[in-house]
Amino acid sequence: MSYGFDTLKVQAGYRPEQHNYAVSVPIYQTAAFALGDSYRADRLFSFMESDPIYTRLSNPTADVLEQRLCALHGAGGGIALASGMAAVSYTLLNAAGKGGRILTTARLYGGTVDCFGHLFPDLGVEIDLVENPDDPGEFQRKLTAETRAIFVESLTNPFAAIPNLQALADIAHEHGILLIVDNTLATPYLCNPFEHGADVVVYSATKGLSGHGNVIAGVVLESGKFDYGNGHYPHFAQPLWFLRDGDDQEQSILRVFPDIPFTGRLRAIHLNYLGAALSPFDAYLVLLGLETLSERVQKQVANTRAVLAYLENNRHVAWVRYPYAQGSPYRELADRYFPKGAGAVLSFGFKGTEEQKRQFLAATKIFGYQANIGDARSLIINPAQTTHVELTPAQRELVGLSLDTIRLSLGLENASDLIGDLEQAFQTVFGG
Ligand SMILES: *Cc1c(COP(=O)(O)O)cnc(C)c1O
Repeated sequence: MSYGFDTLKVQAGYRPEQHNYAVSVPIYQTAAFALGDSYRADRLFSFMESDPIYTRLSNPTADVLEQRLCALHGAGGGIALASGMAAVSYTLLNAAGKGGRILTTARLYGGTVDCFGHLFPDLGVEIDLVENPDDPGEFQRKLTAETRAIFVESLTNPFAAIPNLQALADIAHEHGILLIVDNTLATPYLCNPFEHGADVVVYSATKGLSGHGNVIAGVVLESGKFDYGNGHYPHFAQPLWFLRDGDDQEQSILRVFPDIPFTGRLRAIHLNYLGAALSPFDAYLVLLGLETLSERVQKQVANTRAVLAYLENNRHVAWVRYPYAQGSPYRELADRYFPKGAGAVLSFGFKGTEEQKRQFLAATKIFGYQANIGDARSLIINPAQTTHVELTPAQRELVGLSLDTIRLSLGLENASDLIGDLEQAFQTVFGG
């Protein structure tokens, strides 16, 4: 059975006959599950059997979401979490273990960069940043014996920069370490990082994956192909009492979860003890959004192209950044990794005073002024003063975020109305 993406996104991971023939995925709104007999309980509590026990650890509604996303990516294992930040932070902690380092860039979601400074040092995880993420050689040069993963976003916000995924995967694998990719802006419809060498893929499902802007959720997926027994991940091989077998012998994560060590460990440790479980109702909401992923993203990419053409011919626009904008250095990488389009986030430089920029933001009627992206509704924001406000001037310079930047996230409205809205906003500020 090898169905196409669109079939999988509405059907994979769910068999109605296993759920009272319910056509929609049921919401299993329960905290706990009956254990049956005490021998079954033994197997459940040692992870030898994977049926649900308690919704913090797993739940059948979230399980359908996990299975469906695995099918869409050809992934070996997956885990749904209560937010994208839980997905990012659990993943990096799981990879780094004790005393490990993560090699990454400042070109990341603001919350991710923030947690490097405010959370990870307390937990003994160090972060190394490359200065020019467009040069894979710099990742090569900055690797240390303690580096456990290279971490990048496949499409960045607000500038839609694209890393050379395969080159980074080759560097990581030469050193026996993981390539972890945050694929939030891309969605699996536009790019499947596992096809380009990624070992672990994370999402904020709050954004395009669910697409309706009604839920906060996150996802971690693993390829199922990486060898965690290669010496760089001793924390996966350590015998653990809570994983003991029927004879009270301690077992390791690698032994109990041989096919899915990464998400197995993340579930048994990070989700279990830190507890950001996705609620069954929210898992259902993500499933609902996922059903229309391809159709939504196609429309959003088309709207983005139309708005790009409008902005590139506007005298109040200093520059436009999008992989297919004029002069973009990412066109070739976009052709290679994003053949169906380079997403629905673009940025432009507003030619005018700070006050005029604020008037412009206040003048749009269709574009909503809010911090998220990947919504069904089109959004506008001034990232340097809002979503990326925690960046110091030096960090802002490093990621190329100037104060005149305006970011758009294109939704599902009519392209002509979106362009009309921007046009009337420019007219409000500068006159007809
Ligand atoms: C929004 C976002 C996150 C964080 O996700 P939440 O669901 O808001 O916790 C992480 N990475 C990227 C790229 C994002 O856009």
